[in-house]
Amino acid sequence: MGYTAAGKPGDETVQRILVVEDEPSIADNITYALQTEGFAVDWCATAEEALRILASSAISLVVLDVGLPDRNGFDLCRDIRRTSEVPIIFLTARSAEVDRVVGLEIGADDYMPKPFSPRELAARVRAVLRRAPKGEAGKGSPPLRFAVDAQRMRISYCGETLDLSRYEYRLLELLLRRPGWVFSREQIMEHVWEEPESSMDRTVDTHVKTIRAKLRRITPDIDPIQTHRGLGYSLKETP
Ligand code: CA
Repeated sequence: MGYTAAGKPGDETVQRILVVEDEPSIADNITYALQTEGFAVDWCATAEEALRILASSAISLVVLDVGLPDRNGFDLCRDIRRTSEVPIIFLTARSAEVDRVVGLEIGADDYMPKPFSPRELAARVRAVLRRAPKGEAGKGSPPLRFAVDAQRMRISYCGETLDLSRYEYRLLELLLRRPGWVFSREQIMEHVWEEPESSMDRTVDTHVKTIRAKLRRITPDIDPIQTHRGLGYSLKETP
């Protein structure tokens, strides 16, 4: 489920807004209000689809409903924040949710309690985009390359779920925590292999190699993992 509504055709300065909302009537109203304001709108109803769209398109801002059918909007927000600074405005149905948005450091930029007027939301979108760093608001954030689903211990890459072993998952998840940070082999070992395992399994280099092979199947020309001779490994900061 979902659709894409273009802004002015051929106009590359049009900012794309992703609306993640499972109630079609609300989504319709929001879409209409945002388009009236000159935004292009992508709509989807599930968290899974939202991650796929974020991985493949330059989105300037996300309007995110807290209650989604497949996942909690807060979890989705945390996942998005692992790799992207795209501004996020929450749509909340209950005051208890407002407390969480305001009280927790989940990385949201603003929220709208339901019911709200779509025009008011459009005004909030404008205000948040004005606050956002220029590069990001202007061009849209870089596509979300990785998305971590910690509950299921899954990582998707460019919208595709990777088939990772437990150790591969833990290794890649560690690198994803701090892109650009060089983790030594010792640090990786300590994190990934908590319990004593057979020494055959404890080779960091071997696991990096298998992870790289799995990523290469999806993007043959890009290696997001960087080797630092004598130091360790890092995840490249920019895609
Ligand atoms: Ca909902």
